[in-house]
Amino acid sequence: MVRVNKVLATQACLNQRAVFNLPQTCYLCGNSASQAICNACLKDLPYKTSACLNCASTLDEVGICPECKQNPPAYTHTQALFAYTYPIDKLIKLAKFHKNLTILKLLANLMAQHLTIEASPDVLIPVPLHSKRLRQRGYNQSLELAKIIAKQNGIPINTRACKRVKYTQAQTSLLNAQQRYENLANAFRIKKIPSNWQHIVLIDDVMTTGTTVNQLALAFKAAGISQIDVWCCARA
Ligand SMILES: [Zn+2]
Ligand SMILES: [Zn+2]
Repeated sequence: MVRVNKVLATQACLNQRAVFNLPQTCYLCGNSASQAICNACLKDLPYKTSACLNCASTLDEVGICPECKQNPPAYTHTQALFAYTYPIDKLIKLAKFHKNLTILKLLANLMAQHLTIEASPDVLIPVPLHSKRLRQRGYNQSLELAKIIAKQNGIPINTRACKRVKYTQAQTSLLNAQQRYENLANAFRIKKIPSNWQHIVLIDDVMTTGTTVNQLALAFKAAGISQIDVWCCARA
């Protein structure tokens, strides 16, 4: 029960922060700000401009990158709000590894504001954490992003359809594509999903190589979902 309480306590802290809008200084420049990052710094964040329609990797033209042409991913379309460079890398690390839920909430609001939603998906699925990692961290950063995006766009959210059943090491510490693939093979298990789901969106904080979301998309494809898109905060 102690483990459950830790998760609940983090949730309560997150909710409380939303209620009190205290004066503060900008995390990036130190000037006074009405929220965690001042308006000038918000404008300067590395918003992604042109990217591959499939995987959101940087591409100078509108279209599909050579890698996706050669090995089409299981997901159809990816939207990434930011490039994973300074200061977004720093902010995401604060949100993910240092329990900075104010920053996490701010990033979620920016995603909710900037995402282009042409056809509303049936459901949002945050990339699940393994239960051991969830206990260590106290919260799933992708779920916290998804909650705000779901609420602001009136899209349902589901955390029960899939489970991360394999405890894996961080993808970034692995050397090559084959090792990344093996690390995540059979990492996700899909449970029974509603028959009316056709179009789902996976929510992730950082997409580095795309192996994680691709494995999850492959699992949902095998379970009968026809269109799977990805919305992530940042793309390496
Ligand atoms: Zn600032
Ligand atoms: Zn691509």
